Amino acid sequence: MRVLVINCGSSSIKYQLLDMTDEKPLAKGLLERIGIEGSKLSHKKGDEKFTFERNVSDHTQGLSWIISILTSEKEGVIEDVSEIQAVGHRVVHGGELFASSVLIDDRVVKEIEANSFLAPLHNPPNIEGILAAKKLLPEIPQVGVFDTAFHQSMEEKAYLYAIPRKYYKQYKVRRYGFHGTSHRYVAARTAQLMGRPMKELKIITTHIGNGASIAAVKYGLSVDTSMGFTPLEGLVMGTRSGDLDPAIVLFLQEQEGLSIREANNLLNKKSGMLGLTDGKFSDLRDIEERAIEGESLCLRAHDIYEYRIAKYIGAYVAAMNGVDAISFTAGVGENSPYLRKNVVSKYLGYLGIELDEEKNKLRGREVFVNTPESRTAVLVVPTNEELVIARDTKEIVEQGIRELNMF
Ligand code: AMP
Repeated sequence: MRVLVINCGSSSIKYQLLDMTDEKPLAKGLLERIGIEGSKLSHKKGDEKFTFERNVSDHTQGLSWIISILTSEKEGVIEDVSEIQAVGHRVVHGGELFASSVLIDDRVVKEIEANSFLAPLHNPPNIEGILAAKKLLPEIPQVGVFDTAFHQSMEEKAYLYAIPRKYYKQYKVRRYGFHGTSHRYVAARTAQLMGRPMKELKIITTHIGNGASIAAVKYGLSVDTSMGFTPLEGLVMGTRSGDLDPAIVLFLQEQEGLSIREANNLLNKKSGMLGLTDGKFSDLRDIEERAIEGESLCLRAHDIYEYRIAKYIGAYVAAMNGVDAISFTAGVGENSPYLRKNVVSKYLGYLGIELDEEKNKLRGREVFVNTPESRTAVLVVPTNEELVIARDTKEIVEQGIRELNMF
């Protein structure tokens, strides 16, 4: 089966066409600047790279262009559009309605729309992508895979905030967690690499990219995760603050006369590593380079960054009453030996972890970075959200089931 995986942002479409016989991507790419002058499509077919420019006004036009590239003689990988047998969509917010992936029909589209109040920036473009695919590939089944679904297994004690309960009932204010597809993949792959069933393992998955979150995965289920009602909570991120005393927001709004929009922008776009480096850097490579050279601004920012990760790991060891494995993934987690070394060597000795410094130097590869003597396993597991989306899509479509039971 060939599955087209689509991830729509407000002005972008990320795509991958996978052949599920060997689960390999045939082609992948990114269309940017939809609705903005000079839209740009970067397309990869095997190792060959192509870039194109033209104006694209909406997601339907964008997807149509992507399909024409996929079927073109030079850059394409299929002869006819009919070779795409299913479409899998990344959908950010499934709210409490979706605890698993689902075959998309009109009811599901309405339900995703109903969750848009929880993710006003993300769900609407996801719906645009679904409607575009429906228009252009009307006969082809479509599946929605939600970023929040994996964390729906959390218990009330992990997902309820200590504010009047009526706000949960009225507005569904609770912890949802995000990056669920990544945490699910990494936890499952960690168990596979350890050669043990996930049902026996307590795993902490740390997804450290520009956005960052940690999950406690106990016996295959997410029991807690650091992102909350929105992706703002938890770790220090590129431009997001992560945890802070909520009274700070009120204080700053009062002191600076900030509107809700301005406060939102401050916490999501101007804080995190960018805020800690006086607005200079949000990219971890820039900060790491300078921290290694001993530049105090970056050194301090990195200290705070790694300390927060270590604190969450400690919290999740407590939440699960133990841990068998800690896995690092995403841009920083996969590629930064410096970050892994600092988190593990400075803070995790109490778990009996010993780091193999040579193995830890590897980047972007599946590897155990602990020594054989280590009591707890530490791994690098490059994430693959597209593969999870394609697998769920294939399974749901082949079995003709409406929902996939992920647990
Ligand atoms: P992601 O959001 O998962 O794409 O991750 C993006 C983040 O990963 C950026 O902050 C990058 O600076 C960071 N990153 C990528 N490669 C490296 C590297 N070799 N060392 C440190 N950080 C990296």
